[in-house]
Amino acid sequence: MKKTKIIATVGPTCENEEVLDQMIDAGANIFRFNMKHGTTEWHSNAIKRAQKVADGKKFPLGIMIDLQGPEVRIDLKEDFIEVEKGEEITFTNSPDGDSKEIGVPEKGVLEYLEPGDIILIDDGFYEFVVSKTTKNKILAISQRGGKIGNRKGLNVPSHKLNMPALIDADLNNLDMGAKNEIDFVALSFTRTAEDIENLRLEMEKRNLDAHVIAKIENRSALQNLEEIITAADGVMVARGDLGIETPLEGIPHWQKKIIQKARELRTPVIVATQMMQSMVENPIPTRAEVTDVANAIFNGTDAVMLSNETAAGKYPVEAVRAMNKIIIYNEQDVDYSPLDIEAKDSSDLIMKAAVDILKNPGEVSFSAVLVFTKDGKTAKQVSSLRPRIPVFAISDKKEVIEKLTICYGIESYYSVFDKKTLERPNEIIADLRDKGFLEKGKKALLVQAQHWDLPEFSRALTIVKV
Ligand code: PGA
Repeated sequence: MKKTKIIATVGPTCENEEVLDQMIDAGANIFRFNMKHGTTEWHSNAIKRAQKVADGKKFPLGIMIDLQGPEVRIDLKEDFIEVEKGEEITFTNSPDGDSKEIGVPEKGVLEYLEPGDIILIDDGFYEFVVSKTTKNKILAISQRGGKIGNRKGLNVPSHKLNMPALIDADLNNLDMGAKNEIDFVALSFTRTAEDIENLRLEMEKRNLDAHVIAKIENRSALQNLEEIITAADGVMVARGDLGIETPLEGIPHWQKKIIQKARELRTPVIVATQMMQSMVENPIPTRAEVTDVANAIFNGTDAVMLSNETAAGKYPVEAVRAMNKIIIYNEQDVDYSPLDIEAKDSSDLIMKAAVDILKNPGEVSFSAVLVFTKDGKTAKQVSSLRPRIPVFAISDKKEVIEKLTICYGIESYYSVFDKKTLERPNEIIADLRDKGFLEKGKKALLVQAQHWDLPEFSRALTIVKV
């Protein structure tokens, strides 16, 4: 079984049940729905199909919606605008019909620009330098010629955009997410911990109990990294926009740094964007892509993500399968840097003891760690230590096991249990053994660390024979 998780984005090329089914079998752990594209209705129907397909599977599938957040998209009168190098183009909130104008409907973007500022469009492919500002308009010189398509993204790397964290479309999509009981909400362009708190308030209003994933993709997020990771339930190294908002050559540096910080703070982390980009067109990845996925694993990520490769590519199933193979091969002898556990409470002490046992098992041979987890926290802690043997997180809550789909090395397993099962976990162990997950004759380490209804059974470490 692989330990690093795969997140696959669902789009038109993999929307039907048959392909979704094959993607799960190929190794997808979470399906991501990118709200930047498609209608809310399309996503809602696709989520329902994915949940239906996942129902019959051995292990749970997580569902993630990725909100647009404070992202700016241009609004053109036509399908595209043709610009020439050196041409002066007008940017305005409310285009008056001149086809040479680029509309920027969002408030809080153009107002702050000054001569000399850079405007980037379409992932930085088109660059404009602001030449003049008036009350309602910005004039900027195009640095290259070409055809710019409508609804392309616009970035202003030098400024923190003064926009709310959530746009109206995001709020509608949260309504849809609540109805479909999704597991993760990713927030694009997270700037501060406050953005995350605002999102949580909106989720609470809708009774949406999902994990919040902060996408790290601009300078503000890098400046506030620690507070964002602490406030979020997970983070994503969103390399697409990060490579526009900050220098491209800095991506490997930040990827390593964000992963390390997230692990220290026991927060799951995802590496995303262009991991297998050539597979949009080709049935096999390039050598560089294979190496990129492996390096994310060596950096210690919890999950790797596919975007266009599965959402709009010709080979969605093959992309997941190829990623799965790279993970399995390269996980074999990866050497994760040890994490210092500073014991703040008795649950941390139990974790410390578990790590010591696994590090120095002596003559005892362990086949797996079994974590009885009420809200998933203990399982997450075990995962951040990157144990080499499989970890089974056992919970009697479906929503808890689905949220653990993002965590490195955790196979979550639904089981109804009571005080008796906890005292003598034989039934669960026998079930896992019969399913082929535990090796007969070896030992399993049982961790029950916290948030337990039964106080007398909290914080226990047990060694049992399989
Ligand atoms: P996106 O986010 O796929 O929504 O653009 C990921 C990224 O920017 O890397």
